[in-house]
Order: sequence, then structure tokens, then C-alpha cells
Amino acid sequence: MANIAALRCKECSREYPVGAFNVCDFCFGPLEVVYDLEAIAQVTSRDKITSGPLSLWRYADFLPADYNAQIDINAGFTPLIRSSGLAKKLGLDELWIKNDSVNPSYSFKDRVVAVATAKALELGFETIACASTGNLACSVAAHASRAGIKAYVFIPSDLEKGKVLGAAIYNPTMVAIDGSYDDVNRLCSELADQYPWAFVNINVRPFYADGSKTLGYEVAEQLGWRAPEHAVAPSASGAMFTKIYQGLKEFEQVGIIGNVHTKMHCAQARGCSPIATAYEEGRLVIRPVKPATIAKSLGIGNPADGYYALKTIEASNGSAVIAEENEVADGIKLLAETEGIFTEGAGGVAIAGLKRLVERGTIKKNESTVVYITGNGLKTTEIVEDVVNPIHIDATVTAFEESLGLKA
Ligand SMILES: *Cc1c(COP(=O)(O)O)cnc(C)c1O
Ligand SMILES: [Zn+2]
Repeated sequence: MANIAALRCKECSREYPVGAFNVCDFCFGPLEVVYDLEAIAQVTSRDKITSGPLSLWRYADFLPADYNAQIDINAGFTPLIRSSGLAKKLGLDELWIKNDSVNPSYSFKDRVVAVATAKALELGFETIACASTGNLACSVAAHASRAGIKAYVFIPSDLEKGKVLGAAIYNPTMVAIDGSYDDVNRLCSELADQYPWAFVNINVRPFYADGSKTLGYEVAEQLGWRAPEHAVAPSASGAMFTKIYQGLKEFEQVGIIGNVHTKMHCAQARGCSPIATAYEEGRLVIRPVKPATIAKSLGIGNPADGYYALKTIEASNGSAVIAEENEVADGIKLLAETEGIFTEGAGGVAIAGLKRLVERGTIKKNESTVVYITGNGLKTTEIVEDVVNPIHIDATVTAFEESLGLKA
């Protein structure tokens, strides 16, 4: 059984039994899962992890749900690639790319949905649902298909075609809303009170969020059981960002790795940067914005975990960075051309943010750095459409040579 003791309010610390709740009845603070780290330390070890499945379930001792083959589409344990071309271009000695764009539904959301869905079934739910900026809809629909349960996915109506298709193909009930993600989220919060559905990022959010801890564990394991000096990750709600750090710190606390000194850097796009702007202005209070960014997966104007992301920056001596809208496509192209990895808008933001952090001197040449690439470029082809220009010729050697100015 999962090593979890209770749910606890992040603000007033009141405890609740384990169930489908995400908000404190007393202070309306968000709930989080409480782990018994001493009990986990007794049962976990590097050897046990290494001999586990090649998926995020190798970290099952640290997760709030048990492995369930019924829902498993093999989320997690994605490649950590030592950068050569990009590192050289940026002048870094040790840059690593966590390529989470190759998850089963092509984004890191498979991690959070795998855990939330396993827990939802444990709690007796027969339907899963979500409010999504796109990738979450794809992942919820895919996991529901695998599990043989129903899915309702809610999205803003202006999403990229690749994300709409990438979810619709699994045949969920799909609802497009005229409005922003924040409008979709508000509607879903009301529906979650009225229907017996597990909204993965609403009523079972505490379990959902902890799926992202595996992005911390996995990088530590893949680096040979150590934490990097810097981590750069794109943020929307801020949940993933805070959970990467929590994952690293838990590994430290149970003695799986040594002391963690990772500086956490949060990247957002200019058109929706409520967390990074608060950081720049030295506030711990998020001022909601109306999202207007090309990186639609990051288009959350009122981020649920924005405050906690700012606290993570503070605790880790990290920072936040803003990618200009016109730098997003450049970031996507740079990663593709130097590393052979095609990412979506969020990855473009991460790469543009990384570049700025190096230019600012925040990340230094000899400091080990991991950049999180969280989604796949084939879902957001609109962003880079203008780079598609194959040479178009008749099927003759002469035409080929003429077009390139070649002579055999
Ligand atoms: C959802 C998403 C994020 C941001 O995750 P949060 O936990 O909401 O901050 C980053 N990248 C991609 C590709 C996403 O789909
Ligand atoms: Zn409370």
C-alpha cells in the first residue's frame, strides 16, 4: 500500500483523511499529500529502484497510489540526454536535456495523469475528467481508453489542432469552451461539485500533482544519484515546478542522494507570465493576467500553485525568466537543430529561458544544468510553420543539381 498518512492543508496544516478533496474546509488553502518519509526510508533503496519497472512506477514507494496495470500506458522513465550541440552553442560544460516529449501521449502530463487515475480507481471513481490547456486532455483521454473508463475533457476552443486531435482520437467526451483556460477551470470546479467524476487536476489534484515528483527522482537517478546545480522548467499552474524540487528534496531526506543544492528556474512566456512577473517585481502575491501567448500549454493566467512556485524559487535560491513571444519559435528551432529534439511551445520557452539565464550569468559555464522539455512539437506545428521549405523539383538529376548548384 502507498506510504501516505493523510492530506494536509498547505496553509493551516489541518489534516484530512485520504480522499477526493483538494481544498481545506477551514481556510480554503490547497491540500497536499503527507508522506511518512521515515517509513519510506525503511523500504526504499537505490537497488530496489533500479530493479523496478522502466516507468515512473519504479518510484512507487514515493507515490500516493499503487501500481495498477489496468491504467498503465508506460508513463515516465524518459531519456536524459547529455547535450553536445546546444551546450556548445550556449557555452556550457554540462547541460542535460530531460526529454519528456516522448511520453505515451507526448507530454509530461502522462506522469500526473497516471498517478491521478490510479488513485481515482482506488477511490472508486468510474469516470475521469479534466480542465486542460491541451496536453492534459490528450493524457486523460489516453489513460481512460486504456483503463476502459469514461473521460470528459474540457479545453479552451482556440487550441492547436494537434492537441485537439491528440485528445479526440481516444474518443473522450470533449468539450471546447469559448474562453480562456481560467474560464474552463472555473466551470470544471463547479462541475466537480455536482458530478461523481475524478477531475484529475481539481478534486484529486493532491495526487495528480505528486506524479511530477518523478521528474525530480528520475533526473537524480539518471545523473548517477545526484541533483544538478540548476534546473530550468516551463510553468503554467506552477505545480510541476514545485514538485520537481520536492522530489529532489525527498530523495535527499531518505538518503538516496546527498545534499541538494539545485537552483530552480521557472520559465514563462511574455504573454502569460504571472509567476515570473511577480518574481521580477519581488512579490509573493500573484496578480492574475489574461493569457495571450503562443505557448498555449502555459496559458494559465491565475496559476493555482503560483505562490508555491515563488516559494520554491526562494527556498532554492533560484529565479524566474521570461521568454519573449518571438523567442519561442527560435527556442524550438534551436533545440531541433542542435539536438534532434522537436518540442512544442513550452519547450521553446524553456530553451529561450535557459539561453537568457546563461546570458545573465545566472547559470555559469561549469555548473551542471538540466532543462525540462515537457511536450512534443508535432502537436504545435503552427508555431514553426514558416520554416517548412523543402526543395521542390522534377524527378531528374539535372533538376536536383541545378536547384542546389551542384555538379557530380
Ligand atoms: C501543463 C504543461 C506545463 C506546465 O505544467 P504546470 O504544472 O501547470 O506548471 C509545461 N509544459 C507542458 C508541455 C505542459 O503541457
Ligand atoms: Zn487550511
